[in-house]
Amino acid sequence: MSQVVVVGAGLSGLTAARALQDAGHEVVVLDKGRGLGGRMATRRITTSDGSIATFDHGAQFFTARDETFTSLVTQWISDDVVREWCRGFGSDDGHPRYVVNNGMTALTKHLAHGIDVRTSTLVFAVKPCSSDAHQWTVIIDDNSRIDCDAVVMTCPLPQSYSITVSTGIELPPELLMTDYDRTIGLLAVLDGPSAIPAPGGLQNPDDVFSWIGDNQAKGISAIPAVTFHANPAWSLAHWDDSLDEGQALLTQAAQKYLGSANILVSEYKKWRFATPRKIWPESYFAVGSLVFAGDAFAGPKVEGAVLSGLAAANYLTQTF
Ligand SMILES: Cc1cc2nc3c(=O)[nH]c(=O)nc-3n(C[C@H](O)[C@H](O)[C@H](O)COP(=O)(O)OP(=O)(O)OC[C@H]3O[C@@H](n4cnc5c(N)ncnc54)[C@H](O)[C@@H]3O)c2cc1C
Repeated sequence: MSQVVVVGAGLSGLTAARALQDAGHEVVVLDKGRGLGGRMATRRITTSDGSIATFDHGAQFFTARDETFTSLVTQWISDDVVREWCRGFGSDDGHPRYVVNNGMTALTKHLAHGIDVRTSTLVFAVKPCSSDAHQWTVIIDDNSRIDCDAVVMTCPLPQSYSITVSTGIELPPELLMTDYDRTIGLLAVLDGPSAIPAPGGLQNPDDVFSWIGDNQAKGISAIPAVTFHANPAWSLAHWDDSLDEGQALLTQAAQKYLGSANILVSEYKKWRFATPRKIWPESYFAVGSLVFAGDAFAGPKVEGAVLSGLAAANYLTQTF
């Protein structure tokens, strides 16, 4: 049995942690966020009358192509965590789109069950360990340290790189230079149903938005709640807008999807590392017992994040 620290409690990190723990390793997962899930994010907004709107504000739904991932999805469906939402937006293309029953974060909570996950724990650095008993020291922002035999880094790559720079390990330049598209989002609580047609999603409907999702139609919000994602070009062009300015522009662009409803309250959200622009040809990158994983490896989606986490765990289990 070896001690493994997983940095990042998103899908990739939690999948790796689950597989490593099942294989008999001692695992600790560290995440800087207040909650777990990373880009599998669910946000709740309470209105002035006390009603609660629920939004998926990172990943919106997912598809399954790979056989291993498909069998995991089947398991999650029988665990009553995941369900099919629809088979396309606008037309039925026969491919199931899956959603998580209580919002995307619920899947990561399901995966985290029984695992030592420490949130609000920012990892500063990973360094070679000074004692012979372990290989790596993980340094946390409160200056505490965890010595371990292996580390799985699952943050977006620029963050993983800055944490591991003092290991002295050089990453291939193509991996180092992986850039990410940004996403700016607007989460809007409405006073009535939106005008988004069934099943409740629009992909690339105009030159501002890449996605508009009706969380009530999707079945996760008790009241009308719409997630608007601006496309990468718009998000880049408006990244430095003030909150008031950006929110006003997105609110204006959103009007035509509201029908006769009005926005009661909204929040403006930014994802700096939303989508990796280039995908590494392997499902993980390892230098000995330091492993890099995440959606920049097996594909910039839910499925890719899971498969990368699994591949990283299998590598460590088979090698150490
Ligand atoms: C706006 C948006 C919409 C999307 N829509 C879809 C979709 O509809 N379908 C789909 O399949 N995919 C979608 N995706 C992609 C999907 O969400 C991701 O591919 C997947 O969630 C990535 O998981 P991950 O574990 O690789 O990374 P992440 O979820 O980013 O996890 C990395 C974790 O590392 C943590 N971390 C970072 N730095 C530190 C540090 N120093 N110390 C400790 N912890 C740290 C972060 O807090 C985070 O929790 C979307 C993504 C975004 C942003």
